[in-house]
Amino acid sequence: MIAAGGGTRAGQRTASEDAVSAALFARARGLVPGGVNSPVRAWAAVGGTPRFVARAEGARVWDADGREYLDFVSSWGAIILGHAHPAVVEAVRDAAARGTSFGAPCEAEIRLAERIRAALPGLERLRFTSSGTEALMSAVRLARAFTGRPKILKFAGCYHGHSDALLTASGSGVATLGLPGSAGVPPSATRDTLVAPYNDVAAASALFDELGPEIAAVVVEPVAANMGVVVPEGGFLEALRALTRRHGALLVFDEVITGFRVGPGGAQVRYGIDPDVTCLGKIIGGGLPAAAFGGRAEIMSQVAPDGPMYQAGTLSGNPLAMAAGEAVLAALAEPAVYDALEARAARLAEGLEGVGGGHVRVPRVGALLTVFFASEAPRDYDAARASDTAAYARFFHAMLARGVMLPPSAFEAWFPTLAHGEAEIDAALAAAREAFPQALERA
Ligand code: PMP
Repeated sequence: MIAAGGGTRAGQRTASEDAVSAALFARARGLVPGGVNSPVRAWAAVGGTPRFVARAEGARVWDADGREYLDFVSSWGAIILGHAHPAVVEAVRDAAARGTSFGAPCEAEIRLAERIRAALPGLERLRFTSSGTEALMSAVRLARAFTGRPKILKFAGCYHGHSDALLTASGSGVATLGLPGSAGVPPSATRDTLVAPYNDVAAASALFDELGPEIAAVVVEPVAANMGVVVPEGGFLEALRALTRRHGALLVFDEVITGFRVGPGGAQVRYGIDPDVTCLGKIIGGGLPAAAFGGRAEIMSQVAPDGPMYQAGTLSGNPLAMAAGEAVLAALAEPAVYDALEARAARLAEGLEGVGGGHVRVPRVGALLTVFFASEAPRDYDAARASDTAAYARFFHAMLARGVMLPPSAFEAWFPTLAHGEAEIDAALAAAREAFPQALERA
């Protein structure tokens, strides 16, 4: 059951209902920029007081004021079994009792790596990092080390973490805040970053025709999820595979979001494309800090200490994160798990389009979807930006008032989990049925 503020409705709520979150936010603002440790959490795009989360379980979070919400943020996709899943909690507790970090190798790293490779055989060797940003930054360095070439091709609206070279035309918080890039990134850092529109094979091809011998890698989210969900059109990923092969560049799949979410393995398994290098994050750490980059042994042999490409991390392969990741991947290896996830996500996406009454499009791949207030599902960043973000902000607040926590930006994905059963999906749809007219009132 969703308790919308103890049964209160939009318009009936009193200002004091978020009093504790508001006080915490004010306190936080005096300590950390914008009161948050990652920009989108500040709700700048939708307005209002970000809810401070006190605890989470299954498909739900409770804020510091004691209100319960059905959660579709799911730690931005890191959570797939549901919050505080007993197997994950137990694994982390057990691991913690044996020590939280060693600075020496431990067996849990091998076990998680073996599970990942069983699902994604292309990762003959992989290296764990603590964040997706590090994984992508390292993958770019690896591609440059392996090919001896300087340039990287990325796609507008894709987000690959906040390393200097990859912040150009970036999605996620950069898109949410409407920034062209980031201050503090010198032109020299992005001189070798080429940008093409997503789904635009001709643009990528033209860049290869012009600069092919200088391009080390194409870096792409195989399903774009940081400008809202933008689905790869048929032939797009295949064309990138062919282009990179023809020109001797590496194809790097950023599966930080899609890995173990859009199907067993990830987008590369779903679409049958073999990238040279894969980056993972989020789900493989089960909500603890872990990410990875990996690929063919021949390529990964560049990485120190096997090879000359330096890459390191004090907390890389952290035993708590490894234990959490192992527990999650073990649960995901059970039969029919992805069928259940797919069915519920489809019920949600189709239901939302239905109750949206033609005003919204809900592109979805596996348990990854976005509600766009637009007449067509966007195929690139320009189209995503043309969607009605003000309507989304109204929708966000109308859903919040009904006890449903959505991503606080039109440019982020919704992340249903295995804890979102039919009852939760139907509750979200019932809330949306009431929220859509409010969102569209001023449209
Ligand atoms: N790549 C993608 C596709 C992402 O969505 C993200 C984060 N949302 C990152 C990389 C960066 O990961 P992290 O936030 O762990 O640094």
